[in-house]
Amino acid sequence: MRKPKPKKTLVLLFCTIILCFVLCNRTPQADRIFTNGHIITMDEHMPEAEAFALDEGFIIDVGTNAEMREAYPLAEEVDLGGKDVMPGIIESHGHMLNLGRSEMRIDLQGVNDPREVVQKLRDRVAETAPGEWIDGWGWDDGAWKEQMTAISHELSAVSPDNPVWFAGLHGYNGWANAKALEMAGITKETPNPEGGKIYKDAGTDVPTGILANAAQGKVTRLMPPLTVGQREKAFEIAGEELLKNGLTSVHEARTTRNDLDALRSLKTKKKLKVRYYVMLDCTDKELIGPYLQNGPEIDPDNWLTVRCIKIFQDGSLGTRSALMLEPYSDAPDVLGVTTTSQEEIERLTTRSLQAGMQVATHAIGDRSNRITLDAYEASIRAVPGAKDHRLRIEHAQVVALEDIPRFKELDIVTSMQPPHATSDMPWAEDRVGPERIKGAYAWRSFLDADVRVPFNSDFPGETLNPFYGMYAAETRQSPEGKPEGGWYPEQCLTRKEVLHAYTVESAYSGFEEHIKGRIAPGMLADFIVISDNILTIPSKTLLSLKVERTYIGGQLVYSRNAEK
Ligand SMILES: [Zn+2]
Repeated sequence: MRKPKPKKTLVLLFCTIILCFVLCNRTPQADRIFTNGHIITMDEHMPEAEAFALDEGFIIDVGTNAEMREAYPLAEEVDLGGKDVMPGIIESHGHMLNLGRSEMRIDLQGVNDPREVVQKLRDRVAETAPGEWIDGWGWDDGAWKEQMTAISHELSAVSPDNPVWFAGLHGYNGWANAKALEMAGITKETPNPEGGKIYKDAGTDVPTGILANAAQGKVTRLMPPLTVGQREKAFEIAGEELLKNGLTSVHEARTTRNDLDALRSLKTKKKLKVRYYVMLDCTDKELIGPYLQNGPEIDPDNWLTVRCIKIFQDGSLGTRSALMLEPYSDAPDVLGVTTTSQEEIERLTTRSLQAGMQVATHAIGDRSNRITLDAYEASIRAVPGAKDHRLRIEHAQVVALEDIPRFKELDIVTSMQPPHATSDMPWAEDRVGPERIKGAYAWRSFLDADVRVPFNSDFPGETLNPFYGMYAAETRQSPEGKPEGGWYPEQCLTRKEVLHAYTVESAYSGFEEHIKGRIAPGMLADFIVISDNILTIPSKTLLSLKVERTYIGGQLVYSRNAEK
């Protein structure tokens, strides 16, 4: 065979380079185009489309089938078969570790028969070695405290040799058996710790086992901590659950040092399942210290970003530990509890703003919200350079009406949970009375005041199914359609507003609106294929809407067909 002449080779090479240059310029690359869908983009420039193109995990173009085929002739084509597609939903306040663990612990959610609780414990004792801890989770600590107290003796009697801890659904109360109380040294004489309460029998003073807020630590600190391996497992289990429900990102609303270690380890192993936005537990000074010095840790791969400090100001409405301006309507001596003082919130917020970290403060009661607003206001004034601070209040559940405009004035991101309204509506008005209820779960009032409101579920206290949350936000009814016309229906939102709150606003609340929440050029290719047209289906149909497929970074990570 004759060797090509060097001159000829050079010419050939030159031509190839020119051709490449022309082709590359004319034909931007895409690895895949998704065509023949009904794409709900959440992008105001093009709200609906037929097709989009992806490259290296990002969306690079959106338009008609013909436009995508013409622009990317070399790309692989995926036929969506006329299905509805929307951006991956962002859970902007959830608790992944608790969700995963709830699968590993005795599940008491929705249990209404006290005998069933006793039976579940008896079964678990039978398969547990003496001395080993048993933990359960999910009894309704808002509504079920009396029932739990009534079976306290019986529960302790079936578990004489195992310490038992049953955490409440909302996390503000837990129940310990006699063995656990004994190990914690809790007796008739033990006084309430600061910020907590040890419930005792009115006649005998014997502790009932129910411990509220800070008192829970007396027992929980005795429990052996989960290993990193156990944590990783819990995060993985939770991640699978999210993908099934169409959630592609989560804001982990109280991350401990051990949790962060587990998340980092999962990231290294490429096993994170969903994208994380971490809110660090502010009570761990060693954990938050470096971030208050050096600022956020924004992941260039967009899987694990650490940018927020989580503070708890008060407790919960159900347990009357939410901090109120005036006493509870159904407990005239009770005002609620303070978990973090105004001075401490201000101090932490000022340092966070200086470092470029975000702060998210849990505030449920009207006094708690005011304290947090006051603290934020002082910090914003102290750090005038922090223009785009996006300070968050989590829940803003009961707010004095005159405080609502302050959320706008201070530009506070108000992170709310529609399922809380529908869960609490049977008793919320008993707690706060007919006047204060007007500022409760008042998302319409916030939107009317031009406040930014991301929606989320705060799972696992509530179902993580975002379509249930959407239903709750627009109907303010139970799944059975009660009450007729909705609970304080003037606070209902439209479908468009609700979808916006679960996507674009939730992305904004984590400084990620440039990469998440829409199907548009430059966005991460996180999207879901759903069973119906979410723009037009009646509210009730949201409850049966299914996620068919979930994609993260353009990769198929969940398919309902495969599961079946
Ligand atoms: Zn929470």
